[in-house]
Amino acid sequence: MDKAKRRTVIAGNWKMNKTARQAAELIDALIPAVQGAGCDVVICTPFTSLPAAVEKCKGTNIHVGAQNVHFEANGAYTGEISAEMLTDLGVEYVITGHSERRQYFAETDETVNKRTRAALAAGLQVIVCVGESLTQREQGVTEELVRLQVKIALQGVSAQEMQRVIIAYEPVWAIGTGRTATADQAQEVCAAIRRVLAELYGQDVADATTIQYGGSMNAGNADELLAKADVDGGLIGGASLKADAFAAIVAAAGK
Ligand code: PEP
Repeated sequence: MDKAKRRTVIAGNWKMNKTARQAAELIDALIPAVQGAGCDVVICTPFTSLPAAVEKCKGTNIHVGAQNVHFEANGAYTGEISAEMLTDLGVEYVITGHSERRQYFAETDETVNKRTRAALAAGLQVIVCVGESLTQREQGVTEELVRLQVKIALQGVSAQEMQRVIIAYEPVWAIGTGRTATADQAQEVCAAIRRVLAELYGQDVADATTIQYGGSMNAGNADELLAKADVDGGLIGGASLKADAFAAIVAAAGK
């Protein structure tokens, strides 16, 4: 596996944290802390902070993303935000299929696919999240489950569009729990994801696709996780809310 063929991307998922003013303060601290990073840096803020984030990050190496997007272009979908609304703001990335959306907001593999396709059609880069629950891991179905999630999420996505897709492997039992997958566990599943990408799109596309690990990644464990052959970055929740903690992971990824 040749890591040089793909981008290393560290993305922060701020979840439902920070008002627009607090977001601006965090970005002010982040800009100098990640300047000159040796990897791509993304922050996914709540919708309400996106305008401030886009404005603040102009001319910096920080890219801005949203945490969800609706699949319809417009219409009677109260409370939803379309892909065009995001691109119109200058947003470049969006997360689809985060486990919290699957767990609390009835997100399914099919709706993850619809959101992913809508986002790609609008020109966004998409971080597609997949991962197993603790029960599924204990049942020994992790690889089958993740393969299925990837296959359904990417139905109808072309090889060309795959240049704007990142897969984030996030074991549900490791998200926000302080319990990280071991580097070997992360590598095993990220490698399985790359194999399914090769089956779907061929080895060149698989080798060029960034696959992140997410789940309690922090400054202390980032080095070991990112050293693995198929781990090309991280999706960071809790540790992305503090500039120094996030910058330390960015620094580890840039080594
Ligand atoms: C996440 O929200 O995608 C995540 C990985 O969270 P945490 O880093 O807090 O586990």
